[in-house]
Amino acid sequence: MQEVSGGNSGANMIQDVVTMYDLIIVGGGPAGLAAGIYAVRYGMDVLVLERSVVPGQISLTGVIENYPGFASISGIGLMEHFREHAEAAGVIIKTADVEKVKDAGDKKIVVTYDEGELESRTVIIATGAEPRRLDVAGEDKFLGRGVSYCATCDGPFFAGQDVIVVGGGDSAITDALILSDIAAKVYVVHRRDELRSCELLEKRAHKKGNIEFIWDTVIEEILGEELVKKVLLKNVRTGDRTEMPISGVFVSIGILPRTELVDVDKNKSGFIKTNERMETSVSGIYAAGDCRETILWQVVTAVGEGAIAAVSAHEYIMVRE
Ligand code: NAP
Repeated sequence: MQEVSGGNSGANMIQDVVTMYDLIIVGGGPAGLAAGIYAVRYGMDVLVLERSVVPGQISLTGVIENYPGFASISGIGLMEHFREHAEAAGVIIKTADVEKVKDAGDKKIVVTYDEGELESRTVIIATGAEPRRLDVAGEDKFLGRGVSYCATCDGPFFAGQDVIVVGGGDSAITDALILSDIAAKVYVVHRRDELRSCELLEKRAHKKGNIEFIWDTVIEEILGEELVKKVLLKNVRTGDRTEMPISGVFVSIGILPRTELVDVDKNKSGFIKTNERMETSVSGIYAAGDCRETILWQVVTAVGEGAIAAVSAHEYIMVRE
């Protein structure tokens, strides 16, 4: 391990920095940056690889009200704080798209599409997750033309119009609440007759005069011309089908982990299995944040998991020195 210089100035090419890192963190969201901050404090040569300047899930989160220290902050705003802190601490963050993380025993090879192969003694997978898709006709065709996965980003386009939110979890109800302040009417279409979301959100939604629930119902098709005009709904109990005029369809049915780049044990939904030290089934490879199997996918848990993963990676190196 070497002293890591502050900031990322002078490190134009990834390979210029070091040839063998102590730790490469794949993903620059809350888990990845928290891991980076802890790792530099342990004197590790650490590199964070982020495939896009704007990290995934958190940027889609409108207002965050449950991250301690911030009573109310936008996802993007909180991410800016994380990034500023990480860079000030000396974490080097680079944009690179990772294709594969390979285990070669004492070293790990991080194969990127755009920056060649990088070598590291340990790797933390903090790749997050992406929105689950409905997989119905019209979903792709009308993406950005009435179909959206982000109420915060696209809600303002539907001012005064009627929209649907699909789903019954915390995300769907949060989205319905956001949209209820913008749209004329918000229909929550849920495939069962009870919500999965927490009571607090459910109560808030019931208090809103313009949120209506359509139970036991799925969307079978999204229809329109240039833009979405209507949906074909099916009641899953009765089998009845109805067409409903609508301007926007917000799909909010959970997340899918981005974990295909690494061969470690995963659950049937693709989330990486770890122990409480964030160790995966492969020695020297760790996972943290939304890509990991857990009971709560939140910024606050991602941050804690990132810290633990970094501590575990540090210990892994220490016992081998
Ligand atoms: P989730 O809890 O997995 O809920 C997904 C919802 O979508 C469920 O109601 C599910 O129905 C429905 N669904 C799944 N696949 C579907 C399909 N193909 N067609 C129709 N409906 C489908 O996901 P989430 O709401 O995104 O939440 C993920 C995690 O983030 C949770 O831990 C949640 O607590 C957390 N979160 C927290 C907050 C907050 O605290 N404010 C906000 C957002 C998210 P079933 O119920 O029938 O399975």
